[in-house]
Amino acid sequence: MAVIGIDLGTTYSAVAVMRGAAPEILENREGERLTPSVVVFEDGSPLVGVEAKNLAAVLPDDYVEFVKRKMGDASPAHVDGSGKEYRPEEISALILKRLAADASMQLGEEVRDVVITVPAYFDDARRTATRDAGEIAGLNVIRLINEPTAAGIAYGMNRGQSGTFLVFDLGGGTFDVTVMRVRGSEFDIVATGGDRNLGGFDFDNKLMAHVAAKVEEQGGPDLYDSGKAEADLRAQCESAKRRLTSAAKTVVRVGTLQVPVTREEFEQLTAALLSRTEVTVEEVMEEAELTWNQIDRILLVGGSTRMPMVSGMVQRMSGRMPDIGINPDEAVAMGAAIFADSENAKVNGAIPAIAVSVSDVTSQSLGTTAHEIGTNIKRNIVMISKNSKIPCSAVDYFVTTIPDQRQVEFDVTEGDDEDLQYVTVLHETLLNLPPGLPDKAELRVVMSYDIDGMVHAEMFLEATGQSLGTIELERPNNLGANAVDEMRKAMRDLEIL
Ligand code: ADP
Ligand code: MG
Repeated sequence: MAVIGIDLGTTYSAVAVMRGAAPEILENREGERLTPSVVVFEDGSPLVGVEAKNLAAVLPDDYVEFVKRKMGDASPAHVDGSGKEYRPEEISALILKRLAADASMQLGEEVRDVVITVPAYFDDARRTATRDAGEIAGLNVIRLINEPTAAGIAYGMNRGQSGTFLVFDLGGGTFDVTVMRVRGSEFDIVATGGDRNLGGFDFDNKLMAHVAAKVEEQGGPDLYDSGKAEADLRAQCESAKRRLTSAAKTVVRVGTLQVPVTREEFEQLTAALLSRTEVTVEEVMEEAELTWNQIDRILLVGGSTRMPMVSGMVQRMSGRMPDIGINPDEAVAMGAAIFADSENAKVNGAIPAIAVSVSDVTSQSLGTTAHEIGTNIKRNIVMISKNSKIPCSAVDYFVTTIPDQRQVEFDVTEGDDEDLQYVTVLHETLLNLPPGLPDKAELRVVMSYDIDGMVHAEMFLEATGQSLGTIELERPNNLGANAVDEMRKAMRDLEIL
């Protein structure tokens, strides 16, 4: 049975499989290498991909896009006409089911085992939601892999090169930058950062606002007035943006009106977005403690890196040419396919076409809270800092503050700041202490991240080694196992067009 790699993108998805010693993109039923990650409910039945995208302007209220931005949220991603709610996991599951069905059509065999890619900075809740989406689609998610790592694998496989790579991934809805060390088939992430809300979509928005203003100047209608007009404006602006990648000027047509736009104008409109990517790259370089001359390769991934201003900026800031030769929209899926094959072989005791080993880092700092002696102000204490290698664990010591203290707060936090205002408290609990402890009795806290990025924390009484309590993070925003199972059953016999 084939194992496939799925790049489940914000705007476009791609599927690849190993054929012999090389990965290959699998075309979808329309014969395309990319499938738009969109769903439309036509009379209640889900339609996925390019045909769905074509209905955006016709059925704007039944149209769902950018669901990846909502993964890990508890709120519905779509509510249909009858009031039926769809979770982000269910929408993603519909897309995954369609991708897997097309892949099995191409391969002529059932597809069940998959590797799905996620942005490196996806937190625990978003990763869990992605896994759940796979399960709901009836798939067996053997691993999740970070998108930049997958791109690095695809690139490294082609060249067999070692060194320090920087992956700059600007897709449709997310921006991801990662520094990794590559030694043959070993991939170690050094640092990663990103912006969940920055991608080609935002560049489209800038152009849309500009075109809509010009249309109003010419006495035309308000294009944001109806969902239909806005969807049409979006489609026109996205394709104009793509034209400006190769042409210096173009015309956006909306109804009978025409708005000419030059590449220079477009670059001015979006300059602030581009500089946001620059700031993120600088932050990641700083965290990696690297200078540009220590970077051996710069990989541009994601459809939006086709815009000339992107490679121009990367070149200006790094003083070198980004690498060409990988297809920015396909590299992630290809790398996922290589990894899927390698992992699958590991499980089955077989020999993979290309064996890869991936080690990851934490995308968020983890810590606990404690009251400062003297001021009694409650502060965040980082225990495992961002970009620590996974799996990892850390130990820290605290003390009780009064004789015979009977309870102690035990929190798990996510974030870097000392000030709790800027930190997310993932879990709060009150633990009981045995009676008769002296003042300043020592408490040991052990915190760890396991291979899947899951968090565990435990507190011990240092004097006796007695465990006072364990925390397994609750995920209030995620579905429980039962809900996932129900949704999987409900979707089992659904045929997605
Ligand atoms: P994601 O993985 O986030 O879904 P992709 O990597 O597939 O995204 O990139 C999709 C984005 O790339 C879209 O915003 C699309 O408009 C943009 N894009 C694709 N081709 C071009 C191009 N030639 N010029 C400019 N933008 C492009
Ligand atoms: Mg992508």
